[in-house]
Amino acid sequence: MQREVHVVGGGLAGTEAALLLAEAGVRVVLHEQKPNVRSPAHKEDGLAELVCSNSLRSDNPENAIGMLHEELRRLGSPVLEQADLARVPAGDALAVDRLKFSGGLTARVREHPGIALTYEEVRELPAGPDLCIVATGPLTGESLARSLAEAVGAKQLAFYDAIAPIVLGESVDLSVAFAQSRYGKGDGADYLNLPLTKEEYERFVDELRRGEKVKPHEFEEARYFEGCLPIEVMAERGRDVLAFGPMKPVGLHDPRTGARPHAVVQLRREDKAGTAWNLVGFQTRLTWPEQKRIFPTCIPGLQKAEWVRLGQVHRNTFLNAPQVIAPDGTLRSRPHVYCAGQITGVEGYVESAASGHVVARRVLERLQGREFAPPPGTTAIGALLRHVTGEAHPPDYEYQPTNVVYALFPPLAEKHRKNERKARMLARARRDLAAWALERNVALAPLPEKKWRSPELRS
Ligand SMILES: Cc1cc2nc3c(=O)[nH]c(=O)nc-3n(C[C@H](O)[C@H](O)[C@H](O)COP(=O)(O)OP(=O)(O)OC[C@H]3O[C@@H](n4cnc5c(N)ncnc54)[C@H](O)[C@@H]3O)c2cc1C
Repeated sequence: MQREVHVVGGGLAGTEAALLLAEAGVRVVLHEQKPNVRSPAHKEDGLAELVCSNSLRSDNPENAIGMLHEELRRLGSPVLEQADLARVPAGDALAVDRLKFSGGLTARVREHPGIALTYEEVRELPAGPDLCIVATGPLTGESLARSLAEAVGAKQLAFYDAIAPIVLGESVDLSVAFAQSRYGKGDGADYLNLPLTKEEYERFVDELRRGEKVKPHEFEEARYFEGCLPIEVMAERGRDVLAFGPMKPVGLHDPRTGARPHAVVQLRREDKAGTAWNLVGFQTRLTWPEQKRIFPTCIPGLQKAEWVRLGQVHRNTFLNAPQVIAPDGTLRSRPHVYCAGQITGVEGYVESAASGHVVARRVLERLQGREFAPPPGTTAIGALLRHVTGEAHPPDYEYQPTNVVYALFPPLAEKHRKNERKARMLARARRDLAAWALERNVALAPLPEKKWRSPELRS
């Protein structure tokens, strides 16, 4: 196991991968561009810098993110270990002292005899044959991004995400929505359609124009890709732009009236099971409180909407992973190159660390001549991988970054009371992670002592 592994980018994913590999005896060269070169969001010199909030979100394992925390802790994640050491009181959330968090990981990297830390900007994809992990994040430098685009095809690398809101299927009023595909295409009923009258549409346009928007970061140009303009920008451009755009009613007729609505909000499956639906073409920079105000009040059928995720548009370099990343985690066009972190289309500090964790295990098993089998899709880590491989999504899914959410998990085999569902998802994940670890001879720390409130599960 002589060959050294190059890790490009000392963020959440890169630091996790470098420490995990080094602690398994692999020689690692970690290339970090700071302090010589800095992305516009990075201010500190340390590794694993938290560029915005100091919260790693809920620690409650009944939430998908809390389950991810628990799995990473049990698998010995250096990032979660340091987060627990740097923890600050924040209710159910795992919040940290960001300097202690980054400082602790930086010290571990610097002191590790198996890691050579070089402060340099990598401008080209390493040519190999040594294996390398590219974990340069959402604000990857321009020249490396260009080299990556050359390797995967320019269309397969996005620089802005355009995220539309996702609503929980069971919270959509099916007495209003009608299932139909435009012109009866596909199975004829692949979409749920929410019809708007002219008055409802005009009111919606007014609210979009008035609604409060997220101010772009100074490094975010407010120039958008024509193909995915935020809906409020379309509304600004003309009162009927939406009605001839994402809300066009052509090819749709309300089966209850036989009439064609004035405008329609189309919902498309986010996951094969149809537990979550995204609002087609509704990428937006409206603030989250405004989305929660405007959409239920203006769009018939969404009055009781429960949001799996709200919309956003921001600078975010990411690959169309299902197309360009092979099942073994390497770039299809560069089998010595792995990608990890936000650049693979996961969203969030912990999701990025989890991605670095999995890639490190893949590299380790490859160096040991074994094939890596990821944790099952019923675990939080496995569910995140179902997103990156595309397995969680229907074939026509437009790949966009996501946090770990329950829509990425395979649905439970049986129907359960709503307030029991999360506890059952957690029980299933814990059972399957333990079985995977046993079969793969992977060390798994015991379940944490801490008991979280959960309903009595009737068998
Ligand atoms: C403005 C902004 C705010 C965010 N806020 C949050 C938040 O509040 N909560 C949350 O969970 N997530 C947030 N994210 C999303 C995301 O979780 C973080 O970006 C996360 O840090 C991604 O982890 P990563 O390891 O993929 O990349 P990063 O943590 O960004 O690490 C990439 C590292 O690579 C280095 N690098 C880049 N290019 C090169 C190069 N060519 N050569 C060498 N080194 C290089 C960078 O200096 C950096 O240290 C935010 C993202 C952005 C852009």
